[in-house]
Amino acid sequence: MSVNRELAKVFEKFATILEISGANAFKINAHIKVARVIEDLVEDIAAVEDLSSLPGVGKSSIAKIKEYLKTGEIKELGVLLDSIPAGLLDLMQVQGLGPKTVRRLWQEMNVVDIPTLKEAIADGRLESMPRMGMKTISNIADSLAFLEVASKRTRIGDAMPIAEMIIDTLLAIQGVSKIEFAGSLRRGKDTIGDIDILATTTKPELLAQSFCTFEGVIKVLVRGDTKCAVRLVCGMQVDLRIVEENAFGAALMYFTGSKEHNIMVRELAIKQNMKLNEYGLFDSTETCVASKTERSLYENLGLQYIPPEIREGKQELALEETPKLIQLKDILSDLHDHTIASDGHLTIVELAEEAKKRGFHTIAVTDHSQSSVQANGLSPERLVQHISEIKKANEEISGINILAGSEVDIHSDGRLDYEDDLLAQLDIVVASPHSALKQDSSKATARLLKAIEHPLVHIIGHPTGRVIGKRPGLDPDMPTLFAAAAACNTAMEINANSWRLDLRDTQVHAAIDAGALISINTDAHAACDFDQLRYGILTARRGWLTPEKCINCFSFDHLRAWLARSC
Ligand SMILES: [Zn+2]
Ligand SMILES: [Zn+2]
Repeated sequence: MSVNRELAKVFEKFATILEISGANAFKINAHIKVARVIEDLVEDIAAVEDLSSLPGVGKSSIAKIKEYLKTGEIKELGVLLDSIPAGLLDLMQVQGLGPKTVRRLWQEMNVVDIPTLKEAIADGRLESMPRMGMKTISNIADSLAFLEVASKRTRIGDAMPIAEMIIDTLLAIQGVSKIEFAGSLRRGKDTIGDIDILATTTKPELLAQSFCTFEGVIKVLVRGDTKCAVRLVCGMQVDLRIVEENAFGAALMYFTGSKEHNIMVRELAIKQNMKLNEYGLFDSTETCVASKTERSLYENLGLQYIPPEIREGKQELALEETPKLIQLKDILSDLHDHTIASDGHLTIVELAEEAKKRGFHTIAVTDHSQSSVQANGLSPERLVQHISEIKKANEEISGINILAGSEVDIHSDGRLDYEDDLLAQLDIVVASPHSALKQDSSKATARLLKAIEHPLVHIIGHPTGRVIGKRPGLDPDMPTLFAAAAACNTAMEINANSWRLDLRDTQVHAAIDAGALISINTDAHAACDFDQLRYGILTARRGWLTPEKCINCFSFDHLRAWLARSC
């Protein structure tokens, strides 16, 4: 995390705790404002010579920024934190609870953490609280249950950079020859339990020592000759297994899983009078037939190499030929992105330059529509103006095609947030649900169906609106939607942002089976968001997506023809 983002988060936390503590609105807003200014800052805040030149940053904020840059903390925040029950911050993780409600729960109901909140719901006390309706209480109860399931796993967007950093560091240690992560991370799941790392080395002691004293380790759980396990500051557990170089492939396959896949492959080995385990594939005379690479193991069993993302114990062993799953390099365009016109951080020109850097032939500018007030959505008048600015930029910038688009809200009843004659002026229309994400399944189906069938809509953006670990999103009848998407030639999005990954893997699989096209987009609001594309690709691969079914892999002419299609 860059220091700007880190520091912005500290100021946001400051504002939250101030609000819980009952501070005055002026003070709270001042902290929120400073957080925004720092987050929007392009240069590193440590490099800003005159902090007072930043808008809204007063004397006391400057002192706090300087203290943080120097010491990595702000004492006043520590004091403030000590003044409230620690569990109140956990309550802030519950969807639907803001600082104001958390303060009321604390002051009026003695609710100080998640267990006391559960008690207050269970014994009916919460119902006696003024301005607390049954619907709100049932929403809070749902969020609590969801949080419990979700909190045990880490999003891939958090786990992957940690795993890669550990691997890069350990690879530099003397004696280490091979090192890779395995488990659900290698299979590209959207959330991960523990990080599993496999390594071969001629100096196992040195490797174990380096691993257990790695920066960020707060507890060593196991310290053995071939296995070590540690807990990191962020709460994740990382396991390291030191294996024989000759058995690396067998171990990698074993620890990559999934369990279901391993069982199927083991059973296949038994049928062929062989035995497969984490050390290798052995024939009836206990002679090792293969062990060094995964490929050799699969081939000796008469199988094609199976990519980790589809090792889920489904139909992967029955494949005559391994599908050519989509890869990062196949993506040639990003069709859902934001600029400073709504809630993005980049100008049209900056967005186009970023897309060029990634080697794309096309970028679509799809800012929010008028109902997304919190995201500074565009009024029809502003959109008209925006379209002409995009067209102008498209003419001026060479080497990239810039499409004028919109991410138009799908209202709860399926109506779109702009009139058709305005939508018709756009090159591309992404229609997304942003509100009423708790509506019942049949309403959600009717709502999304209407958008899919709308002749001016090209892509349904993040179709369920889920946010991993925070809200489950809509639960429509997906087979109905995918059949309609195929019939209307509307693409369903995999939103690559690792908080979303929406559609999810299994839904991608079902969409393709139904004949629908897929679009993978970063939904970029800042330059770094383009880096999240890899998570969208992993999700796509888990859904068995091949490039020809993904509109982002189309050449420019093909894409242009597809956009001009009639429903
Ligand atoms: Zn959106
Ligand atoms: Zn968006």
